[in-house]
Amino acid sequence: MPELPEVEVTRRGVAPHVEGRTVRNVVLRREGLRWPFPAALPQLLAGRKVLSTGRRGKYLLVHFEHGTLIIHLGMSGHLRVMDTGLEAEKHDHFDLEVEGQDGQGPQVLRMKDPRRFGAVLWHDAADGELEHHVLLRELGVEPLESGFSGKLLYDQTRQRSVSVKQALMAGDIVVGVGNIYASESLFRAGINPKTPAKRISLARYEKLAQAVREILAEAIVQGGSTLRDFISVNGQSGYFQQTYFVYDRAGVPCRVCAAPIRQIKQGQRSTFYCVNCQK
Ligand code: ZN
Repeated sequence: MPELPEVEVTRRGVAPHVEGRTVRNVVLRREGLRWPFPAALPQLLAGRKVLSTGRRGKYLLVHFEHGTLIIHLGMSGHLRVMDTGLEAEKHDHFDLEVEGQDGQGPQVLRMKDPRRFGAVLWHDAADGELEHHVLLRELGVEPLESGFSGKLLYDQTRQRSVSVKQALMAGDIVVGVGNIYASESLFRAGINPKTPAKRISLARYEKLAQAVREILAEAIVQGGSTLRDFISVNGQSGYFQQTYFVYDRAGVPCRVCAAPIRQIKQGQRSTFYCVNCQK
């Protein structure tokens, strides 16, 4: 599943090809994905200029003067930028075609999504603030922005009996810390993932917030992908080559202390941790 770093890498890859450009066509090749495509999208966007791109959690945002296109990559989706005229392949469901500019010809932003859990939605500016959109309004703070801190984690977990890993992944305190990054961040902070969230001190949450920021930033820098079939915008595989310390290393010696990494289930998700290094 594309996690926050993949979505951010995708946004950064796509941005130079669409920002400031005028849409010349939108192609919808099926009724929708997880939810129906807005059928009026071609009329809504043709002739309109893309002002900027953004991201909120794992939602990629394409801003226009009259509203915002909200794209989610679901379990298996990815976006590519390509020249026009290339025939769509199986599972290519959505195209946003933009006019050429600065000596570059027209380009197509094409979404492939074999499992079809992704989404392409429209938020009209007339319907109010984007952050009040039903998909965005419950989201926690962005982990790479200034609102995220150990203090926030501490304050928001005083009543939470769930494990720290589940609290971190719940999405209502902080967004975008998926399974891999939660496991790796807890290792870096030296915190046992089974510890009840409300039992962790402020000082340890400060360490955890720092670890989350570092690990996500590192993943973005490395063109982060955790998804086998993630294809970066230039068409190359973005398979994540980062060295994990615990994730997917069950039974393998810890890189720090050599104890075997343990694998457990928490809320249906696999957690990997080191009993020595994480207390
Ligand atoms: Zn260890």
